[in-house]
Amino acid sequence: MSGTAPVLVAGGGIGGLAAALALARAGFEVRLFEQKPDPHEWGAGLQISANGTKALRALGVEDQAAIHASFPESVDLRLPGSGRVVSRVPLGGFHAGRYGARYMHLHRADLHRVLLEAAQAHPQIAVTLGRAVTEVTHSGDGVGVVLDDGSALDGLAVIGADGIRSGVREGVAGEDAPRFTGMVAWRAVVPADGLAEVPRAHVWMGRGRHLVHYPISAGRQINLVGVVERSDWRGESWSEAGSPAEFQADFAGWHPSVDILLRRVATPYRWALYERHQPSVWCAGRVALLGDACHAMPPFLAQGACMALEDAVVLAHRLAQTPDDVPKAFRAYADDRRKRTEDVARAAWANAWRFHLHSGLLRTCVYGGLSLASMLAPTRPARLFDWLYEYDAAQA
Ligand SMILES: Cc1cc2nc3c(=O)[nH]c(=O)nc-3n(C[C@H](O)[C@H](O)[C@H](O)COP(=O)(O)OP(=O)(O)OC[C@H]3O[C@@H](n4cnc5c(N)ncnc54)[C@H](O)[C@@H]3O)c2cc1C
Repeated sequence: MSGTAPVLVAGGGIGGLAAALALARAGFEVRLFEQKPDPHEWGAGLQISANGTKALRALGVEDQAAIHASFPESVDLRLPGSGRVVSRVPLGGFHAGRYGARYMHLHRADLHRVLLEAAQAHPQIAVTLGRAVTEVTHSGDGVGVVLDDGSALDGLAVIGADGIRSGVREGVAGEDAPRFTGMVAWRAVVPADGLAEVPRAHVWMGRGRHLVHYPISAGRQINLVGVVERSDWRGESWSEAGSPAEFQADFAGWHPSVDILLRRVATPYRWALYERHQPSVWCAGRVALLGDACHAMPPFLAQGACMALEDAVVLAHRLAQTPDDVPKAFRAYADDRRKRTEDVARAAWANAWRFHLHSGLLRTCVYGGLSLASMLAPTRPARLFDWLYEYDAAQA
């Protein structure tokens, strides 16, 4: 399809870069615009489960990403105080064997850099940094964008991969706004030196809050995310620093191994958690939404980036099937993706409920049941998510 007008992508986050790569691999010319001149991701970790790894494989970057990854053996659901492991959900060999791809823990910056470098190296992709899309234009059957330097460009199609505050979304789906979840996330990355951590994720489940930590950067660092129910703070910048003492206070007395990690935190960042429900329409004519621009979900199932990667692969596949009928391709993409992303967002909320139980009685019943189920059938908790992890966007 070279020689045809390019597909124009607004946004160079994980979703936009993945879309550019998927489209170029399907034969399209692509022009991607990222508003930040130096788009690096903030210091934080990212879990990429088997379904996300398969999407990275379809984009041709699985091996490059794996160089920077840690491969967790399990995720342990634990209780503060006793430290008891309520359930050990197998990941490593289990994901590779059952779902055909590994579960990876990555530094966000590493994954972003791998995608950006792959896009910049691809002959059919032109990446322009420091340039925002300010408007999507329509003329007859055509579509184009206006950039923040006033220049205009026509394309075959426009992809809105411009994140939770997407401007492209309004033109597709009308006006709406992200919704505050009532929760705030603390984030920090600490050195792993001397900790001899087994590569696994730990989820500590407290009343109205939970804490997750896992190794990243091939085991050299540990990523910490603490989620707390509170509504007195609504900032949304990855770079908004808080104080280590505040972070520690939110999880004080949870467990000696938690204390050790929290004492290593030099600068924690905090981020109010918003979500954006998917709109009833994902596309309008030659314009389609993807990733957080379409369905920003809370991070309690660690799937937002995985969904953006899957979106990218499916969208490119559908466009390649009917390149002469872009609206039809986009409708097929939306039909493929709508239910799955809804189900994933719902499952993420179910995790928030499970991780934050307030009532003592409920905690005893739910965690007791989980513990028993894990003892009787250790892989059952993992198999409950077969529907999520066995999905392969390249086969969809
Ligand atoms: C605390 C936390 C933990 C998380 N952990 C996980 C996890 O473990 N696993 C997982 O899969 N997901 C996780 N997520 C979700 C994941 O981070 C997001 O779903 C993912 O980054 C979305 O990617 P995106 O490309 O759609 O959007 P974004 O990453 O927001 O990228 C959008 C890009 O568009 C650019 N942009 C915006 N407007 C314009 C414009 N007008 N013109 C040009 N460029 C523009 C922005 O600068 C940005 O670079 C987590 C989220 C949070 C908050």
